[in-house]
Amino acid sequence: MKKLDQSHRFLFEEHPIRGQYVTLDKSWQEIAQQAGLEGRGLTLLGEAVAAVTLLADTLKIEGSVTLQIRGTGPLGLLVVEANSKQKIRGIARQSSPIEEPMDLQEVFGSDHLVITIKTKGAEPYQGIAPLRGSNFSDALEYYFDTSEQLATQFWLACDRQNVSGMLIQKIPGRTKDDDAWNRVIHLASTVTDEELKTNSLADLLHNLFHEEAVRLFDSRDIGFSCSCSRERTAAMLLTLGKAEADDIVEQEGAISVTCEFCNATYNFDAIDVEQVFSEREAVTPSETTH
Ligand SMILES: [Zn+2]
Repeated sequence: MKKLDQSHRFLFEEHPIRGQYVTLDKSWQEIAQQAGLEGRGLTLLGEAVAAVTLLADTLKIEGSVTLQIRGTGPLGLLVVEANSKQKIRGIARQSSPIEEPMDLQEVFGSDHLVITIKTKGAEPYQGIAPLRGSNFSDALEYYFDTSEQLATQFWLACDRQNVSGMLIQKIPGRTKDDDAWNRVIHLASTVTDEELKTNSLADLLHNLFHEEAVRLFDSRDIGFSCSCSRERTAAMLLTLGKAEADDIVEQEGAISVTCEFCNATYNFDAIDVEQVFSEREAVTPSETTH
């Protein structure tokens, strides 16, 4: 039977090729409900969630992967983040209808996507890639083809209840069988969206690669989780500046900040605002001295 909200790694034992599979149910439903999207907007958010979860699972040490697109198109904002602890979150904002023939550049009104990889103890890595194609498999394959990354291909399927995805990646190492990569990709490409979403991974791998020796590793649970907090929101207030924060409190009675990812609301009244800014002064006492 298929398990819910899982990520799996697998390895082609006779070739330097690895794979990953992810299937998201409850965690995706929470993200989808929060986003309030339908149709292609929802599908694109789902594909991005599956793809970023797969990418985060390739991290060898603790860290996170963020995919971000901002533009002037109908889907003007998409941000998806997953970390190596299998926590995911994502948001997209749609302002007008997406016409069917639009490619990704038109959908987002942007010509590039940004992938940020943060790992513990290292400077964040930021990769910017041109947006190509009409779905995230196309766009990410183009990103991997044109960057110094390992050859990687994606299969992504999404509906309101579930997103599932598979990644196949060439890893460093010698192969005796020069055709192995092409053969594995060709076999993987016969998978249907329905099989990706409903089959157990054991069945999926057996159906696709029954002539290859594939080793399946233990699964890992995935959940929706937001990293927002009152402290982080307070830090955001500091960037507004005291004068503007005071203005808002005077006009609205309080500053209310709602997290786009999880809908949590953080309220700061006049006293809270004083406290936030006085704590900051306690940390950095003499910004005005020269
Ligand atoms: Zn949040």
